[in-house]
Amino acid sequence: MYAKIQTLLELQEIDRQLYTLERAKGDLPHTLEELKRKLTEVTSAYDQKVAHLANAGQQRRAAENAISMAKERKKKYETQLYAVKTNREYDAVTLEIENTDKEIDQSETKVLQALEVEENLKQELAQHEEQIKALQQERDQQEELLNQLLEQNRHQVDQLKSARQSLTTGFNLGLLRSYERILRGKDGLAVVKVVRGSCGGCSTRITSQRAMEIREMREIYYCESCGRILIWPEEEPVLA
Ligand SMILES: [Zn+2]
Repeated sequence: MYAKIQTLLELQEIDRQLYTLERAKGDLPHTLEELKRKLTEVTSAYDQKVAHLANAGQQRRAAENAISMAKERKKKYETQLYAVKTNREYDAVTLEIENTDKEIDQSETKVLQALEVEENLKQELAQHEEQIKALQQERDQQEELLNQLLEQNRHQVDQLKSARQSLTTGFNLGLLRSYERILRGKDGLAVVKVVRGSCGGCSTRITSQRAMEIREMREIYYCESCGRILIWPEEEPVLA
């Protein structure tokens, strides 16, 4: 049992170092995620506007086509006007010319509207492009910082992980799981010493009967209050 507790203590030291290295990353991973999310959002808005712009362009060209066709028709009517023989024919051709003028007018309004939409979209797209460029730059910077940090710590992390691997290989799986569960729940401190007759983790008093049992180390003892694994340090005086 003593050997197992020693292993747990060594494991806890390794885990403490791994935890410190993990924390050294600080907000970087989170910031990076946020930047990537924002970038996806802006890029998708950009793509939508590009499609919208293409659509407005198509509508404008259709209206421009309609105008040239209407102008052609108008010319024909105007030629016909010279050849009319009756007032009725004259009125009919004049009406056609008027209708064609209305059509040209409507199409011109459509062209102007489409131009305005296109102009606005182009401005918005330019803004998005700036935004995307800035976001990409920041993402690259943060990514580089994180990679530098990972690269810097990689050797140490690898060593710690391999040390952890050799300690846990063949180790009592139930005890290991229980240790890891306490470690997660108790801020990286799963194994604590008995200090002046109390739990070194939560300071809860330990009965002298239990203290004696812990000292004998026949099995693993957990603090009744915080659930941490208790060990008896050499420097702790033996209770009468
Ligand atoms: Zn405790």
